[in-house]
Amino acid sequence: TAVDEYAFSHLHPSSSTAPSTSALDHALKQQAAQGLPDIAVSPSQGKYLQLTARLARAKNILEVGTLGGYSTIWLANAGPDVKVVSVEVDEHHAQVARENIDHAGVGSRVDIRLGPGVSVLPQLAQEVKEGKREKFQFVFIDADKENNWNYVDVAVGMCEPGAVVIVDNVVRQGKLASDAADPRIAGARRVVENIGKDGRLDGIVVQTVGEKSYDGFLLAVVK
Ligand code: SAM
Repeated sequence: TAVDEYAFSHLHPSSSTAPSTSALDHALKQQAAQGLPDIAVSPSQGKYLQLTARLARAKNILEVGTLGGYSTIWLANAGPDVKVVSVEVDEHHAQVARENIDHAGVGSRVDIRLGPGVSVLPQLAQEVKEGKREKFQFVFIDADKENNWNYVDVAVGMCEPGAVVIVDNVVRQGKLASDAADPRIAGARRVVENIGKDGRLDGIVVQTVGEKSYDGFLLAVVK
């Protein structure tokens, strides 16, 4: 945690890079005040997501799991024209996110779609198929872990070649490696194993330690 705080304070000075630390702090304070759980990505993880989206030259980003919009604000700041579609099942979370995202000055570029991911993603896929929506270059999956693979499977069909897909919280203090009964671990194992067998994707698990304890994410590239 000390290393995260040290490094972030030097690598994300509020004067130089969007989003400003005040917009980010506002989002975290508001989501706590509104009773949302403290399960957003850390500042360093948010910056990592943004930098990865920039590496992928993302113009259209899909997120599943908005919460209070903290990671959404990071992603929307991957570029001045970047558009984000973020899917959230909880109406209260979506409302808090809307306010935070507007306050961060990126409201016109963020579309929050209310509903369960398993229903909303196929709707988005249909919109892409009908040419009503552009394909995505970056996908961040951070919602109900049991559906990780279902989200990746549908999202890949909406992605351009070279798109990056990140699935959060797959390591869970090392439990990924054991055959746990926990459905969140089962969801993490399923997405890892299925990506390994899927000819459309090439992936790896990146283990992380820091403010969010020992965890990790799955990073995959669409072929
Ligand atoms: N990405 C957010 C961030 O870092 O700021 C954190 C997301 S939080 C870990 C997970 C979110 O997914 C919660 O807001 C929860 O309501 C939402 N969620 C849970 N089940 C969902 C589902 N079936 N479809 C869409 N969203 C869901």
